[in-house]
Amino acid sequence: SLSDRLTATFKNLRGKGRLTESDVNSTIRDIRLALLDADVALPVVKQFTAGVRERALGAEVSQALNPAQQVVKIVNDELVSILGGETRTIQYAKNPPTVIMLAGLQGAGKTTLAGKLAYWLKDQGHTPILVAADLQRPNAVTQLEVVGERAGVPVFAPERGNIGGHDAVGPTGEGTRSFGDPIAVSRAGIEQARQKQHDVVIVDTAGRLAVDADLMQQAANIRAAIQPDEVLFVIDAMIGQAAVETAQAFQEGVDFTGVVLSKLDGDARGGAALSVASITGRPIMFASTGENVKDFEVFHPDRMASRILDMGDVLTLIEQAERAFDRSQAEEMQRKFLAEEDFTFDDFLSQMAALKKMGGLKSMLGMMPGMGQMKAQLDNLDPKEFDRIEAMVRSMTPFERTHSKQINGSRRARIAKGSGVQVSEVNALLERFTEAQKMMKQLARGGGIPGMPGMPG
Ligand code: GDP
Ligand code: MG
Repeated sequence: SLSDRLTATFKNLRGKGRLTESDVNSTIRDIRLALLDADVALPVVKQFTAGVRERALGAEVSQALNPAQQVVKIVNDELVSILGGETRTIQYAKNPPTVIMLAGLQGAGKTTLAGKLAYWLKDQGHTPILVAADLQRPNAVTQLEVVGERAGVPVFAPERGNIGGHDAVGPTGEGTRSFGDPIAVSRAGIEQARQKQHDVVIVDTAGRLAVDADLMQQAANIRAAIQPDEVLFVIDAMIGQAAVETAQAFQEGVDFTGVVLSKLDGDARGGAALSVASITGRPIMFASTGENVKDFEVFHPDRMASRILDMGDVLTLIEQAERAFDRSQAEEMQRKFLAEEDFTFDDFLSQMAALKKMGGLKSMLGMMPGMGQMKAQLDNLDPKEFDRIEAMVRSMTPFERTHSKQINGSRRARIAKGSGVQVSEVNALLERFTEAQKMMKQLARGGGIPGMPGMPG
């Protein structure tokens, strides 16, 4: 899979002290192969690798990350940007109802999505209604009614008598075999929504098994007639390379405002997602992840990128660490960790300040092997306590800060008085300091974990 291949690529980089141009080139070659392997369209692969190369060779080097981490971060950032950057959801009409039209091939998952979207909208406090404008197949209306019932959302469908199976001369003209006029039904559905105060209308339309001019014309005609606020192009994430052609055909034929990736629960490799968003320049807005009405998600480019990279938490970890640390400061700290006697109360203070900044890492540290102790440190750290610790350290003489073992009873009493705390607190601090010394020495000896600045890796 794409994830596996990229992970292997990054493994090769791990442990490199510096990134040479040939490292960058061979990494980019690997990334290119991995993307092509995952059915990402060639122009997208080219754009992507060019972006990564430029940034990897450019001046954008981070002080806090080692070269392999930098490349991972760059690849992640480029993925997010190619997937559309920001998360985007429905833009609601100023004057309700907001009309959302669904378009896509037959079997793409439109009708299923209609139910999911309605359910999700209802959950957000909206009052959606579904409109059955797929009148191509007799059972399409019934299917939408079943979907609407599951979602607990009303369905507007043509009068049963009208779905009699005549050859309608519909908007597509020339005797399309149809069970009614999708435009008339859509208009009536929107009118009903207005009267019954439904604030969102979801119009389910017909698809064909393959792109054809007739289908495009029908969809384009519906769009022109009802002027929807959003046109969502639903595409099966499993169709691989064909996704690009299909998306382009729909963009030219109907145009759409957003993309929905369906069947992401399957074995989809992310290639289609990458290609469609990038080639059409339209954001992926939702993901459909199963047959159930709740199998639906707002699409987050950053999460998809992590999913593709298969290293979500590690990336977040790197990012937060990058914010909290400066690499040179971290290296100085690490040098001191290696020599216990060098580790002073001043270092202890800066270490705590860094830990404080890394507060958001707690849950992740807990999940990482060997980081339990650091999580415990963070658990024990509340901001007020940090202020008290700082006050105590400030009440120490320079000699005391570098010779913690020499801090006897009378010195402790003086520090307590100077910082306005109980002697027992000074005792606790000294104990904690000794623990921190031990822990740091242990981490330094144990080789630390890759990805944590300030520790060998
Ligand atoms: P439409 O022709 O575009 O309306 O597609 P449908 O909504 O009828 O879906 C076609 C088939 O795909 C149905 O069997 C659905 O149950 C299935 N399907 C739709 N969305 C998903 C999905 O997200 N995951 C999975 N596993 N199946 C889906
Ligand atoms: Mg359908």
